Amino acid sequence: MERYETFEYDVLVVGAGGSGLRAAIAAMEQGARVGMVSKSLLGKAHTVMAEGGVAAALGNVRPEDNWKVHFRDTLKGGGMLNNWKMVQNYAQEAPERVLELERWGAVFDRTPDGRINQRNFGGHFFPRLAHVGDRTGLEMIRTLQDQAVKMGVNVHMETTITRLLQEGSAVNGAFGFDRRSGKFLAFKAKAIVIATGGLGRIYKITSNSWECTGDGFALASMVGADLIDMEFIQFHPTGMIWPTGVMGILVTEGVRGEGGVLKNNQGKRFMFDNVPDRYKGEFAETEEEADRWLEGDREARRPPELLTRDVVARAIRMEVNEGRGSPHGGAYLDIASRRSADYIKKKLPSMYHQFMKLANLDITKEPMEVGPTSHYMMGGIKVDPDSQATTVPGLFAAGEVAGGLHGANRLGGNSLSDLLVFGRRAGLAAAEFASKKSSWSSLDDSEIAQCLSEALAPFSRAQGENPFAIMQDLRNSMQKNAGIMRVEDELNEQLDIIRKLKVRAHNAAAAGGREYNPGWHTALDLPLMLEVAEAVVLAAAARKESRGGHARLDYPEPDPAFAMVNHLVRRKQGVLAVETAPLPVMPGELKEIADAKGAVS
Ligand code: FAD
Repeated sequence: MERYETFEYDVLVVGAGGSGLRAAIAAMEQGARVGMVSKSLLGKAHTVMAEGGVAAALGNVRPEDNWKVHFRDTLKGGGMLNNWKMVQNYAQEAPERVLELERWGAVFDRTPDGRINQRNFGGHFFPRLAHVGDRTGLEMIRTLQDQAVKMGVNVHMETTITRLLQEGSAVNGAFGFDRRSGKFLAFKAKAIVIATGGLGRIYKITSNSWECTGDGFALASMVGADLIDMEFIQFHPTGMIWPTGVMGILVTEGVRGEGGVLKNNQGKRFMFDNVPDRYKGEFAETEEEADRWLEGDREARRPPELLTRDVVARAIRMEVNEGRGSPHGGAYLDIASRRSADYIKKKLPSMYHQFMKLANLDITKEPMEVGPTSHYMMGGIKVDPDSQATTVPGLFAAGEVAGGLHGANRLGGNSLSDLLVFGRRAGLAAAEFASKKSSWSSLDDSEIAQCLSEALAPFSRAQGENPFAIMQDLRNSMQKNAGIMRVEDELNEQLDIIRKLKVRAHNAAAAGGREYNPGWHTALDLPLMLEVAEAVVLAAAARKESRGGHARLDYPEPDPAFAMVNHLVRRKQGVLAVETAPLPVMPGELKEIADAKGAVS
């Protein structure tokens, strides 16, 4: 049998983004021996790209803000499909998790009186996002990484996990390979935390980094974990759509929070005409009122550009569909005519430098051409709201890969605090689970043999297919058939395409050696990408209504029949299938908060 090296950890954390790092810290605080695996280098996980900020009701800018308003805003943004207990845990704990980061050395932007500053973001009733210019993710990762390294985490960088291993129904380890050397590794673990981030890369146009191929959803599903809300993918309204060199790259919502406005090809600010009924009365009705709000007038209402992402993304799509779009099929985002060049460079430094460098576009002088880009997965591995335990014993999940907190749509800034709150909870629960096991269970030789044979198979397919071609077909077809606007026939067509792509993926070939071999890596990514794509399409086909991030052209309105149900995708006898599950019932006192208008005390 091909050689492999074995490692033993109490808790194995798969993923080194914000959630993985926070889980590792929590588990180590409990005395667990923690190993962390990351496809990329430590410090380079996708979290580093986060720009706008981390949402927490600190009340530093508006003292009226508190966890109840954050709870209400998050549920409202999520179309009330969120798991209420997760939202409660989240809103209550987020402020302490941000303050803790500060104690560990994170340097946030300040208010004039020296407290952590907070900025406006879509769907948040009060300015709530603690930030570090537009480089918040970088500061978070730097801080968490310092803390985890100081505590002695064992990191396996540039290592990809391809399979979770099981003893009975419980997980007892993981199998993977070192991307640099091509050598194989097996991990024995008493508990595992999946923290592998999102799946944007299954789409052609995405803001997500290369590692977001959806591995964690698929790894968990393949060992029997339930997935929840997989139809809800957030298409961020303001991805660059032109020039091509920056296609998909995100223009942070911070641009709109700082006064940027959306215009169509007639120069009209169209968001005033696109306020949905559920938000009527909460947003400014004139440009003058919107500007007063930006200047800090507490009597004025927010600009409609700060509506939730699903609403703004769909409004842009409608402008395009009705012939008022920009030349490349989007809208104009203009901050240049609204703020001075100095202000823009100070408040949005990365935006300015990035587009200047990559596309020679000066956002202090001209508007950006933007449109929806696949950005965030609201759904994910179903977890217990307190412990982040999945439906598989010993397996926990946190961060973007876990579902339930965001319901049908996530508010900007809520992901970074999700990572902190639930990363910590997952780490604590995993360490506790591990502490009840006196030793590691042995790995099953035949299971390892199968992992090795699957991993090496692409090298034996001399007549096989180029894996990049298969991946491109997947990404293009997902974009076309399961993108921002969905319809029954196309979803069914996509299921058919995925099934054919699965057959082709079994014939994906790799040539050359095993060191840094991108063709081989892609061939091994494909089965996971196809599993998660199928789960998305199945759930999207089952939800015959439009709600949050899921928009159906054939069912354009929310349907009360779907208002109180989540969809679960689960493997049964090797086949993925969708089931409906009723929402957990919210206690009366929380329902009152959820239904409240305006500030809540
Ligand atoms: P990630 O940070 O994606 O980390 C995943 C880790 O898992 C990586 O280390 C990766 O290498 C590893 N991994 C993946 N698969 C495997 C595998 N098979 N084996 C081993 N390791 C694996 N949210 C906010 O709240 N505020 C913002 O301002 C904000 N801005 C954003 C800006 C951009 C451009 C983007 C794209 C997103 C933004 N988000 C923001 C969303 C937020 O950044 C992400 O949701 C969040 O960082 C995800 O963190 P995570 O820890 O779950 O996963």
